[in-house]
Amino acid sequence: KCESTQKDVLSTNKNDLPRISMLSVEEVLKSHVLSLDIDNCEAENDNAFIVADLGEIYRQHLRWQTHLPRIKPFYAVKCNADPMLLKLLIALGTGFDCASKTEIQTLLNMGVDPSNIIYANPCKQGSFIRFAAEHDVKMMTFDNVEELHKIKRFFPNAQLVIRILTDDSKAVVKLSAKFGASLDNTGFLLQTARELGLSVIGVSFHVGSGCYDENAYVDAINRARFVFDQATELGFNFHLLDVGGGFSFSRKNNDVTFEKIASVLGPAIDKCFPSDNIHVIAEPGRYYAAPAFTIATHIIARRIVRRDLDEHIPNMDVIQDETLVAGDDHPSFMYYINDGLYGTFNCILFDHQIVTPKVLMKEGKFLFGETLDEPEYNCFIWGPTCDSIDCITKNGSLPELLPGDWLYFEEMGAYTISASTKFNGFRKSKIIYTTTDPHVLTILDDA
Ligand code: PLP
Repeated sequence: KCESTQKDVLSTNKNDLPRISMLSVEEVLKSHVLSLDIDNCEAENDNAFIVADLGEIYRQHLRWQTHLPRIKPFYAVKCNADPMLLKLLIALGTGFDCASKTEIQTLLNMGVDPSNIIYANPCKQGSFIRFAAEHDVKMMTFDNVEELHKIKRFFPNAQLVIRILTDDSKAVVKLSAKFGASLDNTGFLLQTARELGLSVIGVSFHVGSGCYDENAYVDAINRARFVFDQATELGFNFHLLDVGGGFSFSRKNNDVTFEKIASVLGPAIDKCFPSDNIHVIAEPGRYYAAPAFTIATHIIARRIVRRDLDEHIPNMDVIQDETLVAGDDHPSFMYYINDGLYGTFNCILFDHQIVTPKVLMKEGKFLFGETLDEPEYNCFIWGPTCDSIDCITKNGSLPELLPGDWLYFEEMGAYTISASTKFNGFRKSKIIYTTTDPHVLTILDDA
């Protein structure tokens, strides 16, 4: 009775790979939620689950190669270390940006050559630098003088990349308060590196994650040029430019699309760094991971707020929220779903994201991508834990739903799974793999 009806078109015969279907994301969602038999199943198939479309990652890679052919992507593992995502990127030949010993170890265990890893954390633990030295992961960033002394002690043969400060005012997640040497300080740092006999090979920067102004990249390229010239004067021979992350994955016309960034970044690099001897890399995270993951969540409970307010608990927090009490005759609902802020939706807290709930199934009817011709009510959506910070939105607008219905949220691959916890004893949402591009299967099989 509980068997999945999903017609899995099996990917690849390699035992260590999980199943990869060749269904569309919609088909995977449908087969899963329609196979649910809540009264008879013990398999907890009412759990929230995530569908990862590896085809989307592949398309993003092709898009990158089309628009920024000179830049080799070093995927930022911190964004989402899902093993299949990493496997696919390894097979596609990208490099990797690692932030810690564990990330480096993961990639080395997967067979990545150390020269394809940049340890791009300017403030590193001494033992991690030693680990990088032992495993020949030479490229690493720095932005302060103490780091130079540490590296001199633990890995004097490292190939250093100076991370410079950028204007991150046009980014959702700002990084410049924490990292980056100002142009007033780069001369001193390079001079110190020289005195210590360290090898500095280039410049890196990060314009901030979720950058929404393509000109931030141009400004950063000009700063990098300044530091290259400074380094030449000090006798260094720089040959690496690392343009960091921040790349948009959006295809929407009124957003800053990846194409828009590429259309100014590519020419700026060619203008300021015309020599082919300058190797250019980037550290995209969100760009690759975000669009490939969709989460489906089950509505496990609901409350009708106005009734509560009228009859029971007038001092409740929500009474302060005008959207719920603003003279509307309809009840407002509070839905409780089975993944939340302590799980996949931690991106709301840590990554400043606003997520958009959509109705996946209502009263047994599968509704992916459909707009319902029904009135919408304002609603809160809560995660499953007993903590009241665990709130996914206080501004939802959805048709009336019931426990047992399903919601879905798209573009949930960046800074979600990677920081998810099991707080309150909840499991992390399981990932189901599919690919909407058949080449992925061959690429993985050949790897
Ligand atoms: N590189 C570094 C050093 C970062 O800190 C980050 C994100 O914080 C990234 C790359 C990836 O950035 P994004 O996901 O915006 O591309």
